[in-house]
Amino acid sequence: MRILITAGPTREYIDQVRYLSNASSGQMGFALAEAALQAGHDVTLICGPVHIPYPAGCRLIKVERTAEMLDACLREFPNCDGVIGTAAVCDYTPKFPSQGKLAKTGKPLLLELIQTPDILAALGKVKGNRWSLGFALEAESGHAHALVKMEEKNCDAIVLNGPGAIGSAENSIHLIDRTGKVSLERSGTKVQLAGEIIGWIATHLAK
Ligand code: C5P
Repeated sequence: MRILITAGPTREYIDQVRYLSNASSGQMGFALAEAALQAGHDVTLICGPVHIPYPAGCRLIKVERTAEMLDACLREFPNCDGVIGTAAVCDYTPKFPSQGKLAKTGKPLLLELIQTPDILAALGKVKGNRWSLGFALEAESGHAHALVKMEEKNCDAIVLNGPGAIGSAENSIHLIDRTGKVSLERSGTKVQLAGEIIGWIATHLAK
């Protein structure tokens, strides 16, 4: 299979030097890329700014902003059989980013934020007979929220994990299939889990 993977955080700039982002390390996406390569698949990895070594052997596209990640995904998806969305996409972007560097005024500063595009949802609209698998990081009511996200993003399956996943080498996951059933329930290192998820995709989603 040819697998598209999004990984890491995105950044949304407030001015030329300051940005909104999150603590995503990119580890889960990179572990999935490695597992997919080891299983003999081709991988295109579209990746936000991270501080860990890039997997060797994949087609690597580095991006910074959500809009850049969306453009790269829309360009690459037609050449792939499916997509795994592990990127922790920045959900909001400043409505009026400032040129230069915002100066202090001694007064409170209000930022107006607007929502960024949902990349997996955009791919879900054009996926045709391709498959897509999302991740849902939920603090509570995880299963119900994950089902809503799977529907909204038109995913074939969604991996539910908790806030402990951020920045950690380990994770606990529930892989929920399109019928809403937990098809895989595992804890372990992200490397171990990545192997299981790639195996599950090959068995359940590959056409
Ligand atoms: O809606 P939420 O951010 O919880 O959804 C998580 C899933 O959707 C992940 O697979 C993430 O990569 C993807 N996502 C995306 N574009 C966004 C937000 C999330 O592709 N703007």
